[in-house]
Amino acid sequence: MKIVVAGTGYVGLVAGVCFAEKGHDVTCVDTDDKKIKLMEAGISPIYEQGLEELMRSNFAAGRLHYTTDYKNAYKNPDAIFIGVGTPELPDGSANLGYIATVSRQIAENLEKDCLVVVKSTVPVGTNDKVEQFIRDFLVHKEVKIEVASNPEFLAQGSAVHDTLHAARIVIGTESRHAEKMLQEIYEPFKLPVVSVSRRSAEMIKYACNDFLALKISYMNEIANLCELVGADIEDIARGMSYDTRIGSNFLKAGIGYGGSCFPKDTKALKFIARQYGSQLKTIEAAVDVNAEQKTRLFHKACDRMITFQNLKVAVLGLAFKPGTDDLREAPSVDNIRLLLESGADVYAYDPAAEENSRKLFPEGGIGKGHMSYVDSPELALKGANICFIFTEWKQIKSLEANQYKELMQTPLVYDGRNLYSPAYMEQGGVEYYGIGRQRRQ
Ligand code: NAD
Repeated sequence: MKIVVAGTGYVGLVAGVCFAEKGHDVTCVDTDDKKIKLMEAGISPIYEQGLEELMRSNFAAGRLHYTTDYKNAYKNPDAIFIGVGTPELPDGSANLGYIATVSRQIAENLEKDCLVVVKSTVPVGTNDKVEQFIRDFLVHKEVKIEVASNPEFLAQGSAVHDTLHAARIVIGTESRHAEKMLQEIYEPFKLPVVSVSRRSAEMIKYACNDFLALKISYMNEIANLCELVGADIEDIARGMSYDTRIGSNFLKAGIGYGGSCFPKDTKALKFIARQYGSQLKTIEAAVDVNAEQKTRLFHKACDRMITFQNLKVAVLGLAFKPGTDDLREAPSVDNIRLLLESGADVYAYDPAAEENSRKLFPEGGIGKGHMSYVDSPELALKGANICFIFTEWKQIKSLEANQYKELMQTPLVYDGRNLYSPAYMEQGGVEYYGIGRQRRQ
């Protein structure tokens, strides 16, 4: 099938590449000329394992094209997938500006019947409006369009794998024709398809993300209580994980969820509920818990330190999770901001997110502090007075206690990802603080 994907971010690009991999003819459209040029040169603008290889092979096979020329691209495809951003507005609602722009561009250029599929996460009822909006602005009035919902469930860091081996594909349609078309598009993936109404599909996406956010905030609160009562959250999680009613995933306590999805999708659902005169008390609590959890490590260190002024602070990991270069809502950002405001001399290491971090914290003096980037965790630790761990990259996880002890001036480690057992670190001569751990709290 001839498919166009609008937006080549984490969702759009991965979807486009995977559709091409499964034999469809795919054109990826983006407004960002720099991204398009990079992709044409075989370089992925985002870091995702296995993506570049598939981009190159499918581009070489002639099944994958990149363009900024949306006018031409939207003329005659069978289906257009929309994967543009729906970021958070100051009031917590979703910004539908990018969706509206693409919808208008489609309406003004489409010359043949087409299925428009919204992959972006959008508030319930948005796709009804997108359909109406495109119909209102269609230049070729004889053209028939339908809008379907096909929310995306990939996780950054394993996006290609998650797309090719998704647990399920959710499709939300209002006609048998749209349902059949989507089933046909996904047929080569050989994955279970959950076919529901458009509004239910939109709601499934929020219900999933917000449930996971809730689970993380729950574990973080239990971890905070563990510190007070003298229990260890890693043991608690292990004990819980065997209960199949609970499941073993998302039981890891830490410094809060980040990324482009959980923070905005929890706030958006809270907003949607309030719009309907309802209140999601559990989700509101998850949002509040997360906001506090993100800077918990810094505040913990404040309890121990008299000052950060002129101290060398090693920051290990910047991305909101391993396997991605994404810094959106990453806990590292809040903590680095506080450290720089407090006069710290920050030496940061991240194998993928440094470039994005430089846009937020350029090298040099910032506030009362100073920002530097280094190419290895060892260089960050060398001569450091204190170390913060924000991302569980394997390059960081593989460090041993004696490396902290030997490299740092004062081996003091605040670990937001509970990478080590406190006993192991203490035996290795490291003063170690995790989240919800039994010792040294
Ligand atoms: P992103 O910000 O990485 O990418 C969006 C892309 O859209 C950018 O490249 C931008 O240049 C492009 N764009 C903007 N306006 C455009 C236009 N008019 N025409 C063509 N391209 C345009 O976003 P993302 O992380 O891929 O997320 C996209 C959507 O998918 C969001 O709604 C998000 O909530 C949802 N989602 C994201 C993830 C994730 O892990 N990132 C997972 C599931 C769902």
